[in-house]
Amino acid sequence: MTEEANPAEEKPMPPPDLVTWSEFLEGYPINSVQNVSEYYERTKEKYGDPFRRMTPTLRLHCSKCKGVRNFSGRWIHHRTFSKGGVVHDFLKYTCKDCGEASKTFCVISQAIDENGNGCAIKIGEFPELHVELPRSVEKLLGEDYALFVKGLTCEKRGLGVGAFTYYRRVVESQKNHLISEIIRVAEKLGAREDITDKLKAAQKEKQFSRAVDTVKGAIPESLLVDSDNPLKLLHDSLSICVHAESDETCLRMAHSIRLVLADLSERVKLALGEQDELRTAVSDLLKFTAETRKKAKESQQ
Ligand SMILES: [Zn+2]
Repeated sequence: MTEEANPAEEKPMPPPDLVTWSEFLEGYPINSVQNVSEYYERTKEKYGDPFRRMTPTLRLHCSKCKGVRNFSGRWIHHRTFSKGGVVHDFLKYTCKDCGEASKTFCVISQAIDENGNGCAIKIGEFPELHVELPRSVEKLLGEDYALFVKGLTCEKRGLGVGAFTYYRRVVESQKNHLISEIIRVAEKLGAREDITDKLKAAQKEKQFSRAVDTVKGAIPESLLVDSDNPLKLLHDSLSICVHAESDETCLRMAHSIRLVLADLSERVKLALGEQDELRTAVSDLLKFTAETRKKAKESQQ
């Protein structure tokens, strides 16, 4: 068999519960234990260390470049890496574009098998994990946005119960407003009266589960998240018992709630956007006409 005949043999597929080392560093919250692939590699050096901990290029938010950029990294301590040993170390990453902005991770890590996989815990990272939020989320959540941000802060620190509880409070408090926005979109799209009646009836339901049943089939297609009713997705994520579930499960559910809210806010913005722009344009035009007339009158006097 030639060397390039089967590249899959050279690099075995990681088991499904693994995330890549770069995915872990880029997006996982601190204090979470995670098995990672591509954590270390064998070196070809004859006399040096036989194994090397990897420093993959990461896609991180750069505060100088104001966007996501490639960052290159290095381990701060270069001591010999023995495969079974637990390593306490810092990883320093620098933006490849500006060469100025940097990010430091503090991690405990260890190799767990012969295939380059490891297990790691992020003890800290600075600056903290950057989560890009569409501006429409703030508009959609109104006065509850501050609570949402607190939930996000918990999520970034791996505090699952905290994040979940904040997000649940936001969704429960905003339930009627979310349905109002869905009604606005439905009306703009010229939905039949029985459809908007269903949505209005859902607003009157005190229980979220009943509201979800009532709106069944009435959500405009443009607001569906992966062909699913966003309210049902929110309800499903909120249905776990925060007293019984693990912190990890709460964190996963919190993550889903945030994604659905962000997606819904963008979809509502897109669906209503043209109308709002048109309204602004008409009001600007009326204002301009009124001012022009006023000036013309004044000059005649
Ligand atoms: Zn930069």
